[in-house]
Amino acid sequence: MDRRKFLKASALGGTAAAASTLAAPLYAQGNRTLTMVTSWGRGSAGVGDAQQRVVDTVNALSGGTLTIDLKAAGELVGAFEVFDAVTSGQADMYHAADYYWVNQHPAYAFFTAVPFGMTAQELVNWYYHMGGAELHDELGQIFGLKAFIAGNTGAQSGGWFSKEITGPEDFQGLRFRMPGLGGQALGKLGASVQNIPGAEVYQALASGALDGTEWLGPWGDEAAGFQEITKIYYTAGYHEPGAALSCAVNRDVFDSLTPEQQKIIEVAAAECHQWSLAQFLSNNGSALARLQASGVNVLQFPDSVWDAFGKASQEVLNEYMGDELFKRTYDSAMASMKASSNWLKVSSGFYTEQRDRILG
Ligand code: CA
Repeated sequence: MDRRKFLKASALGGTAAAASTLAAPLYAQGNRTLTMVTSWGRGSAGVGDAQQRVVDTVNALSGGTLTIDLKAAGELVGAFEVFDAVTSGQADMYHAADYYWVNQHPAYAFFTAVPFGMTAQELVNWYYHMGGAELHDELGQIFGLKAFIAGNTGAQSGGWFSKEITGPEDFQGLRFRMPGLGGQALGKLGASVQNIPGAEVYQALASGALDGTEWLGPWGDEAAGFQEITKIYYTAGYHEPGAALSCAVNRDVFDSLTPEQQKIIEVAAAECHQWSLAQFLSNNGSALARLQASGVNVLQFPDSVWDAFGKASQEVLNEYMGDELFKRTYDSAMASMKASSNWLKVSSGFYTEQRDRILG
């Protein structure tokens, strides 16, 4: 077909073709740049790497049709202002931990971590195959967001303390940094719980404004430098057994992207979840060994403290069950967790025990 005939055919070429041409937003034809605001400092170990990974993957996959302009915490808005920036349209997308938004909706906790919730493996099982992503989408719709999990820290440490914890009563009056529903549970034990951005925690601990903090795990914590302030470190924590990071795009912006651009963001987020989890897990063991060698006293909470964590956590979760979406998300997550863990315990869990017994 020569060009003149083609143009004529296109002009008269039927309602479907004409409608799809008209429906395409004007800018869909051109290259797009999206501004991504984040809760992390540029170059921050693990979480800063994850935000950069999403940017680099989208920019590389799109061949220039979609570029993300990264504005790390404080560069455009503060670490905890990114949700409002994206829902209001001031920025196009964020990278953060969704449990920072529990005051906007308590169900956001499930898309980072809830106390006594899922490990990273159990979380992806739920997210990709047992209803998690659909619930994340439903929650995002309320605020005009399209959200994806995009990073994972694996199991986080119990944290750094100015004194040893020998029983639940030791939390009375303790000024401790812990976000999300885990932090609310600690409040039930009498702690004075604060949530401050990661970049500000070192100063708060060093100045004595905090008696303790959790942040990530040995690698991220070592990079933050908490071992310079206290030597008392608890490895296992109840509050973030497999904490996911998220990126979310303003829904109108996401809908205005081409299907290819939308898929690129989805794929970049999923790739980052796996890449980031592996980065944390591959670095934590050697970082813990370095911390121990430098004189950090590495401890576990006693059972009496774990029992108190369990009771307080369930009380906090129960307080939100009156919210229909929270309860539906809880029921979905717990059913999936139970199904996953029943298999993992008798397969990889049992195998690891036997392997460690035989190989030492
Ligand atoms: Ca944390």
